[in-house]
Amino acid sequence: MRQATVYIDSQALQYNLNRVKQLAPNAKIVSMVKANAYGHGVKDCLAALSETDAFGVACLEEALEIRALGFKQPITLIEGVFSADEMQTVIEQNIECVIHQQQQVDWLIAHKTAYIAQKLKVWVKLNSGMNRLGFKIAEIIAVINTLKAEGFTCVLAMHFANADADHPLNEQQRAQFLHIKEACSPILASCCNSAAIFKWPELNFDFVRPGIMLYGASPFADKNAHDLDLKPVMTFTAEIIALNTIQAGEGVGYGSHFVANQETELAIVAIGYGDGYPRAFPKQNHVAINGQAAAVVGRVAMDMIAIDVTGLNAKLGTKVELWGKNRLVDDVAEANGTIGYELLCRLSNRPTRKQI
Ligand SMILES: *Cc1c(COP(=O)(O)O)cnc(C)c1O
Repeated sequence: MRQATVYIDSQALQYNLNRVKQLAPNAKIVSMVKANAYGHGVKDCLAALSETDAFGVACLEEALEIRALGFKQPITLIEGVFSADEMQTVIEQNIECVIHQQQQVDWLIAHKTAYIAQKLKVWVKLNSGMNRLGFKIAEIIAVINTLKAEGFTCVLAMHFANADADHPLNEQQRAQFLHIKEACSPILASCCNSAAIFKWPELNFDFVRPGIMLYGASPFADKNAHDLDLKPVMTFTAEIIALNTIQAGEGVGYGSHFVANQETELAIVAIGYGDGYPRAFPKQNHVAINGQAAAVVGRVAMDMIAIDVTGLNAKLGTKVELWGKNRLVDDVAEANGTIGYELLCRLSNRPTRKQI
């Protein structure tokens, strides 16, 4: 049987949730489990995250999946509802909405009595410069005042565009958020994703919204999971199914992209972009084999990759770690010109999934 496997380590997930608790001891934790828990599989992850206060997802379908699995915690829809007819379901299923544009305010007010009776909070989104969703600074106070007057409990919410970096917009976003929080006092507040949880403990407020750090990957380009004391939750492995020795001048794979300059022992590993392993590698990529690094050579194909195992004593059936505790997904992402988030989320469902 093809051995491509994604292992999910529940204890690592719990460890990382505890890291959030250490960093934001006074905030409630809204664990972000959108996109199938960042590709980890929502079912196993929700069970491991039983200590969280709430979950955050991108749309109603994701929220309903959580309810269908029997989890009762509060859920926040971070983009709110997409149409008026979703309001009814949201209320029945005890799901809280972000409100980021006027149409959603109207839908909400039309369902006011039922929404408030369920004790659901409304998350009102400030656009402080990311310019995706939210009310601008000049509009939001009126929106919040209207909602408060209607009897809603509001959470002022914001998302940083550059929490992972030093950028002048950070100061603007922070200043606008603090200004609105003050102007609308008393109001609950939430503006921290993983990067902001690490960087700005003073902004943790009532709710933090960790995503990537829960899964043991880094939100920062210049720090990896080990630097942040996070434990990788996913280990992605495959197995060697063929060994080839090639001579100087011989190539391997499509396009004969790699040509050996000396005698080279190659191992063919049964994994490819059909599983979600990235094909483009502008920089040298490698995998871990018996705890050692082996370079990926030649083009990644749909079902196979070639690695250079010269001197590594690789055998048929030897397991290769594509990413996990030895080869961090952060570093694989770096070598492939992307971010860990993307590699995790775009895994296909071909690899077998196992909980450990
Ligand atoms: C996805 C998301 C988060 C989590 O971000 P990470 O960088 O993964 O911690 C937080 N808040 C909102 C609104 C999000 O969409």
